[in-house]
Amino acid sequence: MQLKIYNSLAGEKEIFKPILEGNVGMYVCGPTVYSNVHLGNVRTFLSFDFIYRSLTHLGYKVRYVRNITDAGHLTDDGDVNNDRFVKQTRLEKLEPMEIVQKYTVDFHKVLDMFNLLPPNIEPTATGHIVEQIELTQKLIETGFAYESNGSVYFDVLEYNARGLNYGELSKRNIEELFANTRDLDGQGEKKNPQDFALWKKASPAHIMRWNSPWGEGFPGWHLECTAMSTKYLGETFDIHGGGMDLKFPHHECEIAQGKACNGASPVNYWMHANMLTMNAQRMSKSTGNYILPMQLVSGENDFFEKSFHPAIVRFCFLQAHYRSVLDISNDAMLASEKGFSRLMEALKILNSITPNDEKQSGFSLDDWKAKCYDALTDDFNSPVLIAHLFEAVKFIFALKDEKETISAQGLEDLKSTLNAFVFDVLGLQNIEENNNEKLDQTLQVLIELRNQARKSKNFDLSDQIRDKLLAEGIELKDGREGTTYSIS
Ligand SMILES: [Zn+2]
Repeated sequence: MQLKIYNSLAGEKEIFKPILEGNVGMYVCGPTVYSNVHLGNVRTFLSFDFIYRSLTHLGYKVRYVRNITDAGHLTDDGDVNNDRFVKQTRLEKLEPMEIVQKYTVDFHKVLDMFNLLPPNIEPTATGHIVEQIELTQKLIETGFAYESNGSVYFDVLEYNARGLNYGELSKRNIEELFANTRDLDGQGEKKNPQDFALWKKASPAHIMRWNSPWGEGFPGWHLECTAMSTKYLGETFDIHGGGMDLKFPHHECEIAQGKACNGASPVNYWMHANMLTMNAQRMSKSTGNYILPMQLVSGENDFFEKSFHPAIVRFCFLQAHYRSVLDISNDAMLASEKGFSRLMEALKILNSITPNDEKQSGFSLDDWKAKCYDALTDDFNSPVLIAHLFEAVKFIFALKDEKETISAQGLEDLKSTLNAFVFDVLGLQNIEENNNEKLDQTLQVLIELRNQARKSKNFDLSDQIRDKLLAEGIELKDGREGTTYSIS
């Protein structure tokens, strides 16, 4: 089985060869924790969660690192008053680390809701200031960076003069970049407009600041990912992921920093997840075409006619390939809900199928499994994988109607394969099971109330509870171990 990955750097699918056989080092750019995570970000993180799960399922031992950007990073115009953390702290009158904590908790809560697995390491930018200062010093020593008025910039022209190629990932031509950039960031401090900050001098108004050889300041955003990925995955590692919007300048800068520091390209496979649209339009707060993850799940919004369980949202997201634009709409969500129920019903039916070793079925389990794995290993093609899972669903309904047969061994194989794809790889959750849990909790409350009624000799009430439950098909049985129930 060969895994193919679309490498953004090569611009084509390549056969995946990990640096260390059987192991994968994967870094994904995490959130900037100054506001609530938006649905587009959830799509990106969910795509890489699926990729992480797939790699694990395929037998790789994965070290998955996803950072938290908690040190203020510059906006494109470089105005320190526009620094997002400073702005937000003034707005909410909170300590910077209070903002960081609040939105980190929110981020984890949202990702938990959609059943994303936590990364193996989740480093923070503020926890790696020392490493970022060291990298900056190294880049100055090797002549790739220069200090200017308390800030340090990466020298893009010097980088290219040494035969390296700034723009190789985004396929941008450096002359073009120079012609099209106005010098706003750095305000005359930089040699060239494309030079980017490795370290930025803090203005008196700037709250988050650290001591450095160049005075008090804070690290540039691009540098934190180089510092943390190098520390935990090495100078060159297997996979680097992120949203498409990070390709330039963020990832381009990471490549330049890595090559300048270590003389080698930092990443072998660059992977980029595409964006999320709603009703065929870009999601944006300013146009109002915008919804928070929680609002989609709670139903409190103007775009969807009802609430949707997080598992259905997840299922909907995975029906688009991570490199395609995903459009969500009321109809798309309703269709996903329908598909999801059918899939879960098939899994349930599978538990009540009686195998028949005498007759042969027309459905080839081996072919079906091979097709599923072909989809998974073809650049993690979730929509094609899901389509194949539905071939099995169709077969299961035919088994139920006794139009098909399956052997005992085949049944076990189908069960374990389908369960692995649905729950381990796609990361879906059985909603009904969760409902059963709620039902059980509710019944335990009623049993407890009935016991209390009996203790206080209120037999009218205790009988009422028992009889009313029985009328609903729930029978209570009193035994030595206490009261149990059965549902007919
Ligand atoms: Zn990053």
